[in-house]
Amino acid sequence: MPDSESGRAGVLRGAGVSPGVGVGPVRSVAGAVPEPPAGSRHGGDAAAERDAALAALEEVAADLEARGARAAERGNTAGRDVLNAQALMARDPGLADGVRARIEEGTAAARAVFEAFGVYREMLAGAGEYMAARVSDLDDVRDRAVARLLGLPVPGVPESDEPFVLVARDLAPADTAVLDPAKVVAFVTEEGGPTSHTAILARTMGVPAVVALPGATSLADGTRVLVDGAAGTVRPEPADAEVEAARAAAAARAAALEGSTGPGATKDGHKVPLLANIGGPKDLEAALANGAEGVGLYRTEFLFLDRQEPPSDAEQEEAYRRVLEAFPQGRVVVRTLDAGADKPLAFLPPPGEEPNPALGERGLRMMRRHPEVLTAQLAALARAAAGLTTTLQVMAPMVTDADEAAFFAAACREAGVEHPGVMIEVPAAALRARDIAPEVEFFSIGTNDLAQYACAADRQVGGLAHLQDPWRPAVLDLVAPAAVAGVPCGVCGEAAGDPALACVLVGLGVTSLSMSAPSLPLVRAALARHTLDECRRAAAAARAARTAGQAREAARAHLPALSELGV
Ligand code: PEP
Ligand code: MG
Repeated sequence: MPDSESGRAGVLRGAGVSPGVGVGPVRSVAGAVPEPPAGSRHGGDAAAERDAALAALEEVAADLEARGARAAERGNTAGRDVLNAQALMARDPGLADGVRARIEEGTAAARAVFEAFGVYREMLAGAGEYMAARVSDLDDVRDRAVARLLGLPVPGVPESDEPFVLVARDLAPADTAVLDPAKVVAFVTEEGGPTSHTAILARTMGVPAVVALPGATSLADGTRVLVDGAAGTVRPEPADAEVEAARAAAAARAAALEGSTGPGATKDGHKVPLLANIGGPKDLEAALANGAEGVGLYRTEFLFLDRQEPPSDAEQEEAYRRVLEAFPQGRVVVRTLDAGADKPLAFLPPPGEEPNPALGERGLRMMRRHPEVLTAQLAALARAAAGLTTTLQVMAPMVTDADEAAFFAAACREAGVEHPGVMIEVPAAALRARDIAPEVEFFSIGTNDLAQYACAADRQVGGLAHLQDPWRPAVLDLVAPAAVAGVPCGVCGEAAGDPALACVLVGLGVTSLSMSAPSLPLVRAALARHTLDECRRAAAAARAARTAGQAREAARAHLPALSELGV
């Protein structure tokens, strides 16, 4: 990508997922392990072939555990947990059965391993954005085993004596967790998203990272690059002045965030509780580290995505209690299972073939078909909260009207859950929020689905991302009536984690914001720098705009201190 004015290579743009600035030479991760050819047969000694395959899987598991232990020694317990989870994948008995069966039929060990992983891969890839992000973990385990069986170098990070920028198609947790933060100044990957392990671990390690950068792997080894993890940019061969300017901006931003602690509030003291979105107890550490005042969205289906059977009552109770106990003075908003569409659960299949799963049996609709699952979940929640000081609030996903809200509130009360609420993510519910409010105690707006349905753009279709922009005035027009319908109204979609949009949402009347934990400091800092009145003016200006881009610009004009934060 030449830069016509200077003749130097131009700026590459991806998604910034871990802030900070890093400068250094590119070092690329070793090449991919080739797929063993379809139809590869072994020589006839099935027992020897099977032993080799199972030994390779065990060696991979042991190696991953050893890497995990090394990561933990350096204080990276999140890295250790991810690596241990990968070791479990390698030791999965179902996987071993799949490998054995294929080898019995004559398939060569490497191919048998490759195919057996393929079954799990498809299940994960089709199980929604969060689980799809785990596919690269699974591929990494597979490639390590296949490489061992084919006698190829095991893929991994390069060795280097000097600090470097690590560039890869996608990074496996096994690589990122053993990296020395003193050596790696930034991560850049061609694939991955904000929920990929590269992103999560980069944030945990405090290393700047840019993911989803087209052409990343064509950067030649040794090229000096400037990576800005907040802006999401990579500049090859930067001038010294550019490096200095980027470092100064990052330092100013870090200094601004330093003071970003305590409960969320606007500059003039209007309180806006800042909460974390979590998928289970494993996410608590990041939530607490980033100062979450509680949990605003506990996506309980993430606990059960890989299950063939509903989880036991005791297991549910334990998973809920661990989260509730983390916020003894706060609140935890638990969402009942949002099965269906982008989050299919094996034990709750749709009743028939669905041409449009996003418009089909999902969320509360699915729970009404399986009331026993809803009742068991609500009862487990009530038991988990018994005797604790945490305020438990429970909400239903995909609610369309007041009748559904009333059904859910009655089910909650019956089970001993005191504070029922609903998500507002269907446009009909947003438009008639005033009819729903009397049935429940609170709303939480899911802007991810609200934007999907408002713009008729499937959120799983990457090519339609521009239509799913929550800055669209039409989406803001749907948020507005729900925010002032008479019950406390939070936002727990991704929009809440955008510092500028967070101010706009508060200006629309939203009373709390819930987001992935790393977004909390910046949102806290953005709110603390603006008055409620400025937020209201920003909201009015955004709604008066005609396009998402214009709404963003119009709002920013009323939020002058955002530039201090480098956003
Ligand atoms: C949403 O739709 O905005 C939301 C928070 O729920 P999920 O992303 O889990 O569908
Ligand atoms: Mg949703």
